[in-house]
Amino acid sequence: MYCPYITGLETNGVDLADAEALPSRAAAPLAGVGKSTVNRHRAGICTCGQPETPEPIGRRDSVELGESGGSFVYHTADPEPIKNWDDVLTKLGVDPSAWAVVSKTVKVSRWEQSARAKDGSRDRVWLSAYRAQIAPKRDDAVTDSDIEAARTRIQGWQLPRRIPGTGIGAPVAAVLNLADIQGGKDAGGGVAATEQRLYDGLENFNAWVGRQRAGGRNIEELVIVNNGDPYEGCAGNYDGQLFSVELNLRGQMNFVLDVWGAYARELYPQFDKGQFVSVLCNHSEMGRFGGRKNQTNDADSGGAFLAESLQRILQGRPEFDHVKFTIPNDEMNVYADISGVPVGLNHGHKIPGNDATGFEKWLNGQARGDRKAWEAKVWITAHRHNFQCFDLGSTTVFQCPSADGGSKWLRDMTGKFSRSGILAMLIGQHDPLGWSDPVFL
Ligand SMILES: [Zn+2]
Ligand SMILES: [Zn+2]
Repeated sequence: MYCPYITGLETNGVDLADAEALPSRAAAPLAGVGKSTVNRHRAGICTCGQPETPEPIGRRDSVELGESGGSFVYHTADPEPIKNWDDVLTKLGVDPSAWAVVSKTVKVSRWEQSARAKDGSRDRVWLSAYRAQIAPKRDDAVTDSDIEAARTRIQGWQLPRRIPGTGIGAPVAAVLNLADIQGGKDAGGGVAATEQRLYDGLENFNAWVGRQRAGGRNIEELVIVNNGDPYEGCAGNYDGQLFSVELNLRGQMNFVLDVWGAYARELYPQFDKGQFVSVLCNHSEMGRFGGRKNQTNDADSGGAFLAESLQRILQGRPEFDHVKFTIPNDEMNVYADISGVPVGLNHGHKIPGNDATGFEKWLNGQARGDRKAWEAKVWITAHRHNFQCFDLGSTTVFQCPSADGGSKWLRDMTGKFSRSGILAMLIGQHDPLGWSDPVFL
């Protein structure tokens, strides 16, 4: 700070370089000081090179530090507020990479004090005493730069913009369930209304696939399922069946083939892979011969026969050479790998009860003898002519609505009626459940 030689030269308007070219004896009068003052400056022991204010004398810094933290007292004559505590901790012998000052505990007191400069002159200085707590430095503490980075990240986030057909994620299958068409049955407008509903369903399914694809779903496979009871039969299922059905057996079976054929013709060529999965059912047991009991065996199934007929119709046609058929012999449970997800299917006429309780009891039994029954991540069943879906933990169960015209008997007995429709969903490994986007068409 104060150097009488430099100050004197400035006061007298003498250039320092000119004075320094002279011996101290000649330079001293130019600054109005004694020779020894010039010599002290030239020897570097004057106050020019010293801090402006001396460190306070007689005040002791202290640190108390245990394993979980501590506190310190620190004195300084520097009037600037402390911004970087690392230097202070280092001066106090505390490792700033392991410890940090808890900023909200910092207390500071200031006072003015007379201090003696090194040249012996006296001056008044402001002194500061800081007290604060020290805590272990946390690696996971959120810093200002962390917050800034998060802000940049969040503000820059955009919804993905995907163009269908280009890099659109995990492949999935669209599964279309044709359940309980009961073709030939007179209820709800009979055959004509059922046919119209099925063609409406085909159109709605096609539009739904379009929406899913436009939304970015990578649907590469189509699975059409015959979930059972594709036709009503003429006799043996209930009293009055012969009196009420609109078509004979030949007419009913041709009706089913026409409908399935239309679905196959319009839909399979739109997909890279195709499956047709068929299950056995009660209404198409061919061995009843009009009686209440099947007189041949479970394999004697009209539904399975129609699936085999469709297979023969499509065979050898290049637009269908990618379609794989799964048709049981006499097994009630049918299994299919659908886009990597194990799926179990049956008609449901061997399952007790009408809801999740019955299904769960049935599945618990199946799992004892049929490993695949337990492994199936999705179960699709039908027969009860109303839509239900239940989560059993190891599997999600879909009970399909019927495609028929409803049941006067059910409505009279219970007051309930169920909506006709076609259940579709996406199945694949795109979703932890193995399925997504179920739709009632
Ligand atoms: Zn049925
Ligand atoms: Zn049935």
